Amino acid sequence: MHTLSERVWSALVCPACGAQLTQQAGGAACSRCKLHYPVAANGQLDLRLQRPKSETVEFALGGAPVPAGFDFKPLVTNPQPALELASLSIPWHLTLTLVSHFPKARANDALMLDLGCGDGIHRDIAQAFGYEWVGLDYVLPEAPIRGDGHALPFADGSFEFILSIAVLEHIQFPFVMMQEAFRCLQPGGVLIGTVSFMEPFHNDSLYHHSHLATYNTLHNAGFEVQAVSPSPDWQALQAIGAMALFRMAPGWLSRLLVAPLQALHRLWWWLGYAFTRSERASEAYRQLSTSGSFTFIARKPD
Ligand SMILES: [Zn+2]
Repeated sequence: MHTLSERVWSALVCPACGAQLTQQAGGAACSRCKLHYPVAANGQLDLRLQRPKSETVEFALGGAPVPAGFDFKPLVTNPQPALELASLSIPWHLTLTLVSHFPKARANDALMLDLGCGDGIHRDIAQAFGYEWVGLDYVLPEAPIRGDGHALPFADGSFEFILSIAVLEHIQFPFVMMQEAFRCLQPGGVLIGTVSFMEPFHNDSLYHHSHLATYNTLHNAGFEVQAVSPSPDWQALQAIGAMALFRMAPGWLSRLLVAPLQALHRLWWWLGYAFTRSERASEAYRQLSTSGSFTFIARKPD
């Protein structure tokens, strides 16, 4: 049974008009447009849009998608993580390296938004870092809030930290979601996430992002992009093997089946670099062009 704390209620706004929501029998009501948002039998508050909404995104045309010299290198473990990492259990989809970059809560009542939270597997780790976890998902009943990434039902600056794992590729208008994430973060707040690149089409995915696209989507929303990193342990062949070619096979079996091609692919690139010494045959370029997904870390400027 989901319940929302007073702290979370104070951050909720109407996704249609942005006015404060008030708690009401059977759900929530907008103080301005008078819409009623129902609560389900399991306590999940349904703050999805009830009617079409128009949103505007501004694009700064004429610039390069990425500033010269930005290094799309694989993420390395932060030597000074905010928490002792050995004590944490790392949920599926996250890595120790990624968690080592999580910011610790600054305020006592800091909120963390798990944007597209799925069945809520990040709750414990959010709490370990000192946050009250706020899970939002469009589909799953395990989320305390059902809502739309294009129209987040939260006041400006509600969160110190937003986590969005494997969500962006499922979003119909990625620039709008990024604009919303930016709006809902406090100045100095951090957004960490992942997005599909060479993963196959899955669960109605729309826009799979290259490293350049990932940077561009973040930058256009106003973020200071700190990292966009390939996933050396989740390359195209593994992703396509596990998610499409040998779908539903145990992980070890799909890895085994693609292993010969993976070995030939690595040899091919090794030879290519040995003969050409070209940057476009380098290991860094290979990782960018074959990564299953990209991880990003971005900060809202102060
Ligand atoms: Zn309203």
